[in-house]
Amino acid sequence: MPIKMPVLFIGHGNPMNAIEENEFSLAWQAAAGELPRPRAILCISAHWETNGVQVTAMPAPRTIHDFFGFPQALFDVQYPAPGDPGLAEDVRQMIQGAPVQLDLSWGLDHGAWSVLKPMFPQADAPVVQLSLDRALSPQGHYDLARQLQPLRQQGVLIVGSGNIVHNLRTLVWGEAVFDWAAAYDQQVAQWIVEGNHEAIIHYEKHGQAALLSVNSAEHYLPLLYSLALQEPGDRVSFFAARLWGGSLSMRSVRIG
Ligand code: ZN
Repeated sequence: MPIKMPVLFIGHGNPMNAIEENEFSLAWQAAAGELPRPRAILCISAHWETNGVQVTAMPAPRTIHDFFGFPQALFDVQYPAPGDPGLAEDVRQMIQGAPVQLDLSWGLDHGAWSVLKPMFPQADAPVVQLSLDRALSPQGHYDLARQLQPLRQQGVLIVGSGNIVHNLRTLVWGEAVFDWAAAYDQQVAQWIVEGNHEAIIHYEKHGQAALLSVNSAEHYLPLLYSLALQEPGDRVSFFAARLWGGSLSMRSVRIG
């Protein structure tokens, strides 16, 4: 019997975490070290939004440097993990109710490689990305993700990559933490522990702290993918659970 793979959500934050040895990259690395070896990785990154659902299907995805104003060393990073066209096709067939397009032009954006590089520096597990369809509601994303459940039995590690609290307009350098950011991060953590996914999906009902924290939903939505894959009996734990830059939650979650 194959082992059922845990599911991760990684709060990715600053792309520099890809090349800095810091508390976040070390926590990710430690979390990866405790996992069964994945046959492949399916990543849902905040940084790939599309019209319609797409899944990367190229045999050798390029490393996309989708940011500005960072040191050359970050632009020099390559993450040469192979793709997995077979897995892409499986994902396409698994998702019912919405056509899924096989994509041959994207690759690995920094939402994927900035966390996978510290976690799996050998880049030997194939990586496939699944996009965020702009047309879907949070509930729609959650329902779509539930259909990916069989992959856990097939040795596929599913990684949502975003941030529970993500507001770049209020970002500050230093150790300051905004009260609303800390409050919403804590609230979501409590809902995760309680298994109250309903509350997390309907974040817009929870007042100003939630609206400031989920300032643009694309960083929040990957969490819904990870939570949707939770099954009865799965244990939940947190790592790298700290706020950074005042309004970014680095809280990461292991399910199962
Ligand atoms: Zn990001």
